[in-house]
Amino acid sequence: MADDSTAEESSQMADSFAKVVIIRRGSHASLPKVSLLLTLDMTLNDTLNHPLRDLRISVTDRCNFRCVYCMPKEIFGPDYVYLHRDQILTFEEITRLALIFVGHGVQKIRLTGGEPLVRKDVHLLIKMLSEIPGLDLTLTTNGALLARQAQALKDAGLKRVSVSLDSLDNSIFKSMNDADFPVEKVIEGMDAAARVGLGPIKVNMVVKRGVNESSILPMARFFREKGYILRFIEYMDVGHTNGWRLDDVVSSKEIIKTISAELPLEPVDPNYRGEVAERWKYKDGSGEIGVISSVTQAFCRDCNRARLSAEGKLYTCLFAIKGHDFKSLLRSGTSNDEISETIARIWSKRADRYSEIRSENTIALPKVEMSHIGG
Ligand code: SAM
Ligand code: SF4
Ligand code: SF4
Repeated sequence: MADDSTAEESSQMADSFAKVVIIRRGSHASLPKVSLLLTLDMTLNDTLNHPLRDLRISVTDRCNFRCVYCMPKEIFGPDYVYLHRDQILTFEEITRLALIFVGHGVQKIRLTGGEPLVRKDVHLLIKMLSEIPGLDLTLTTNGALLARQAQALKDAGLKRVSVSLDSLDNSIFKSMNDADFPVEKVIEGMDAAARVGLGPIKVNMVVKRGVNESSILPMARFFREKGYILRFIEYMDVGHTNGWRLDDVVSSKEIIKTISAELPLEPVDPNYRGEVAERWKYKDGSGEIGVISSVTQAFCRDCNRARLSAEGKLYTCLFAIKGHDFKSLLRSGTSNDEISETIARIWSKRADRYSEIRSENTIALPKVEMSHIGG
């Protein structure tokens, strides 16, 4: 495309996934100065016929919490070496890649981490990404810095947030975040986000046996009252630092049974194919919850997610052993077309279905840490 173009055009067909994305330089101050024309007449599918729809971008490997199931202090202590500033993708690099991914059919981008709100000026990245037409842009956060950033995030064009919270009981929550961070501050963050229009607020609770099962019902009662959508996540064997054991997993079935005994629930149809959380609603019409059963009911059959780490590696599965380096491509003068072809090559060879084949034998496989690629 000619460099002197000034307008932006985008045509994205809602139901068909054929895409034409044309971003012409100069139309948006904050989009990188790239001209990009990607015309894809057919959906990019992996070997199991999954399209590429959802991209999770980790913007940092750092975090202000030390959740015992994600970044245990024994490993992520004072001597742990984080990525240096030069090693993480710049906002321009992330946006350039995001544009190319959208050209391949990505419709939703979730920013994650580490903790995305510790990345300096992350709202500026959101501003750049929000200018990509038709993109559903969300973020997952531990909520610690949300109250003070909610308005800026909303103003920058963020659509919604998911906030993680594992208990309403401060002694349990603090033993899980291992950063002495109180429940009230996280709830303040959620409420601020709801006030500025970043709702419906979704709340993520990882349930670990013997640690926070007693919080299941209090959390359900509290967030039903508030009208936030609570989602229970089965504790997973991501990375290798959390000492995962199958016995520590509280199944979604058990969670539903516990809640239903007091607040009867019934299943609801998914919002769309490939939705990660299975939806349940309270029979009295007072709201809904979700369960994410990655261990006991694998959902690989519909998985359309890719993950980009803060250092620019692309992972085609949360449990991937190896990522594909895009930072070197971005920093060595590779054209957008070539990057686009590389993505297509990787996705079309993808055959990931880790959760379906999880066994005692797979647990010890080398895997990337959750704090590198987000949830
Ligand atoms: N720091 C942000 C947060 O905590 O929301 C975003 C990154 S965090 C890695 C994303 C999600 O992964 C969180 O909801 C977190 O609870 C979840 N998570 C982390 N480790 C997990 C594990 N071992 N099993 C299940 N979920 C996990
Ligand atoms: Fe940080 Fe989120 Fe991991 Fe907790 S789950 S340590 S908040 S990245
Ligand atoms: Fe997708 Fe991998 Fe999770 Fe299966 S295990 S749902 S392929 S990310």
